[in-house]
Amino acid sequence: MLTQEVLKHQLAAPKHIVVTTHHKPDGDALGSSLAIYLWLKAKGHTVHLIVPSDFPAFFDWMPAREEIRIYTADIQANDTLIADAEMIWCLDFNNLSRIHAMENAVRNAPGAKVMIDHHLEPEGFDVFRHWDSNAAASAQLVYDFLVNVMDDHSAITAEIATCLYTGLMTDTGSFRFQTTTPEVHLIAADLIRRGARNWEIQELVYNSSSENRLKFLGFCLLNRLEVLPEYHTALFSISRQDLNRFHITTGDTEGLVNYALSISGIKLAALIIDRTDQVKLSLRSVGTFPCNEIGKKYFNGGGHRNAAGGNSNEPLDKVVEKFKSILPAYNELLKQ
Ligand code: 5GP
Ligand code: MN
Repeated sequence: MLTQEVLKHQLAAPKHIVVTTHHKPDGDALGSSLAIYLWLKAKGHTVHLIVPSDFPAFFDWMPAREEIRIYTADIQANDTLIADAEMIWCLDFNNLSRIHAMENAVRNAPGAKVMIDHHLEPEGFDVFRHWDSNAAASAQLVYDFLVNVMDDHSAITAEIATCLYTGLMTDTGSFRFQTTTPEVHLIAADLIRRGARNWEIQELVYNSSSENRLKFLGFCLLNRLEVLPEYHTALFSISRQDLNRFHITTGDTEGLVNYALSISGIKLAALIIDRTDQVKLSLRSVGTFPCNEIGKKYFNGGGHRNAAGGNSNEPLDKVVEKFKSILPAYNELLKQ
């Protein structure tokens, strides 16, 4: 492991650096990685931000968005950048399986890996980490890293503040989740002071749905929501046909699972979607119910206690069946 002093010393001379984040990046993944990308660039390094896949169009307005390289768009060129990088900064993930197609390229790359993340159980690929699983967002840890580790508070420009505010806002459900501590509000206040236009970010991220997306939401609420009151559980199961019917693209299903959780008395919610490659599960819970345990134990996934996920190579109906069959074992926990 590198000490803070050694990391600072290494950053004192210009380096070739790759920044990356997880597959299908969300607001925190994009916000934290763009903030680090902009900061490293401002310090004079040659930096490339490579993300494993596309991401929702409601993040297209983000600062430096046009500089983001999608790994699969030019694998050969991106592999070269990864192999030649002296440092690889990994934001908002701690297990290389989370970067999907980029996994081997990053794993085999000789560059020193720096990790800033807030997920449980780091794999241990990094030589320097700023990690805290109690943090509300990786954006919170990037803020703390810049201010308290790098002593570089003044480097937080309006653009960087905008990226970090987006990460904090999306990972806390607009400052509603239990992770929203006084510290989170103080950071948000400082970011607004530094130029993050909070109301505008809210509008751009949450009020930019297509008509199709809203009709899809209505369709799912009416036809695809199943409530299991005896297990305090509600789930959506969405077929490929449903996705095609409403021309659903990346990001359009974001937030859907929360509608299942918003029903009074529901402790566990699942969104089970038949994607082209796999069936993907999004799990959410309230209180102490550990939905990451279900993701990890049964669906090759994991996550946080109240927000987790997983995937399966089985058909949709089998995955739904399996999910339901697990519930009796959690009967006591779900009743609490
Ligand atoms: P979402 O439901 O928004 O896709 O994911 C919510 C959270 O669950 C993510 O922030 C991540 O921590 C976790 N998660 C989702 N899918 C996976 C997965 O396939 N593997 C792991 N380890 N975590 C996941
Ligand atoms: Mn995050």
